[in-house]
Amino acid sequence: MPRASNFTEAQKAKLFVKHRATCVYCGAKLWILDGGANPYFAIDWADHLVPVAKGGLSTLKNGVCSCYECNHAKSDRSKAPAFLFDEGDRLPRRLARFNKLHESDWYFNRSLFRLLLGVHYLFNGVGVRTRDDRHYAAAALKAMKKWQRAVSLGNVPTLEVRGLAPIKPSKDKKLMLGLRNAKSVADIRQTMRKLLPSYSAKTCAQWKPDDASTKPVQPNEKLALVVGSKPLPRTELTKKLWDYIQRNGLQDKKVKTRINADAALLAVFGGKKRVSLDEMVGLVCLNTE
Ligand SMILES: [Zn+2]
Repeated sequence: MPRASNFTEAQKAKLFVKHRATCVYCGAKLWILDGGANPYFAIDWADHLVPVAKGGLSTLKNGVCSCYECNHAKSDRSKAPAFLFDEGDRLPRRLARFNKLHESDWYFNRSLFRLLLGVHYLFNGVGVRTRDDRHYAAAALKAMKKWQRAVSLGNVPTLEVRGLAPIKPSKDKKLMLGLRNAKSVADIRQTMRKLLPSYSAKTCAQWKPDDASTKPVQPNEKLALVVGSKPLPRTELTKKLWDYIQRNGLQDKKVKTRINADAALLAVFGGKKRVSLDEMVGLVCLNTE
């Protein structure tokens, strides 16, 4: 019996391979390694073509690989998948590289996703999240162990051989690739700490790990409308932004990790109508001088 509402990990891995790590709706690339330690990566999601609310089942036939954003924007409606392709010649050339994906790669990608959530926690650390780096490291290890098992059982060529990882990786990508050898939660937490400088450089060019919690920064005009114009440490500004979101009921009722912008936040979010909780710190950075 296919499950009514949720795809299994094995199904998600199959859909990830079938649709070449690409969102079938918007074409977003969902291969996290390519972006390095970047906070703005797109998360892969298994979406029901025919929504569950309309009787859609969790079968491979009714499943597509999509990004988190498209999945939630679509909600219970049906949407034409512009990038849906089957086997064969409909595969766009730019996706030929992902023809070499193996189901084990989904676990690798998942592990990196959790790794970056842990790095984000270390970067952020303001208490809006209840899960810490240890939690994410344990989750990343779990996925990586499944990857290790699948790779050894399936005798899968390395990511490098298949062109899915650079032969000469940058420092952050090297650390991310090194996760394949992780044996303990401690290993992964250490990688998270080492990734922090690259991660924060991409989140906010001026941000320095050492003074992040204490040095006051000046909110720009847009952010000042929400949190006041007084210079405060970034963590305080993030807390104030969070208070504002709560006070005005802007945290999505259904998707708790989503924030819906009102007029003032629309300016802070650079015109985006909704952002994820994970993007919040980056947005504070972008709106300070
Ligand atoms: Zn998408």
